[in-house]
Amino acid sequence: KITHFGFQEVPVEEKAHKVAEVFHSVASRYDLMNDLMSLGIHRLWKRFVIELSGVRPGMRVLDLAGGTGDLVKVFADRVGNKGQVVLADINSSMLEKGRERLTNLGKVGNLSYVQANAENLPFPANYFDRITIAFGLRNVTQKETALHSMYQTLKPGGQLLVLEFSKPAPWLAPAYDAYSFWALPRIGKWVTGDAESYRYLVESIRRHPDQETLCTLMQSAGFDYCDFHNLSQGIVALHRGYKY
Ligand code: SAM
Repeated sequence: KITHFGFQEVPVEEKAHKVAEVFHSVASRYDLMNDLMSLGIHRLWKRFVIELSGVRPGMRVLDLAGGTGDLVKVFADRVGNKGQVVLADINSSMLEKGRERLTNLGKVGNLSYVQANAENLPFPANYFDRITIAFGLRNVTQKETALHSMYQTLKPGGQLLVLEFSKPAPWLAPAYDAYSFWALPRIGKWVTGDAESYRYLVESIRRHPDQETLCTLMQSAGFDYCDFHNLSQGIVALHRGYKY
């Protein structure tokens, strides 16, 4: 099947199965790999999300595909004890890793953990002030369905922030491709013994919609407006959608 992005689509169940396998496999070394592969820069990208999110005391925040909880760690402090933060992830190994790490950091009280598929969120409509999804959307098989589910769950006046790999500036493409196709699977094999998962990672980045296409998808899902910021020359983009 060919999607409207022009890519050869992997069958839905096969992709979901692959994604589950990848994250069960990398969960225990996920944080180390993130630092190694991005040379620590993922911390700056996430910092940008946190600043742009405008999360304040008393807010309800959902971090979807939240993994080991980098964003939630800061949101839990920002919302204070009158606010609420939910870390949701489809993968039990990633969720468990996140819970363990955040509990060890003393982040308890206003934080909860939910195993959930982004395509079918188990939360009430019009509930969250902010939804964030960092490096998660490209792993979701049915992105339109997931974006629609996020829209439903967001309060009027709320915002969705999507941090994801995107299309880099053309001058950077050759070096970026060499790094992705040559270096990343090798670093993956070296640290986790699993080159295959990192090949999947590169492939999923390549298939993910570019900046403009993602904006169109967000608007089709109901978001009233969408803007984006390119980070590191478009290697990553932060998209923001609004529900009015
Ligand atoms: N947000 C974290 C971060 O930025 O470090 C983790 C990102 S990690 C690359 C991607 C996460 O997406 C994994 O934890 C994976 O289990 C989760 N995920 C994949 N498909 C999902 C889905 N359909 N619904 C919810 N989470 C999903």
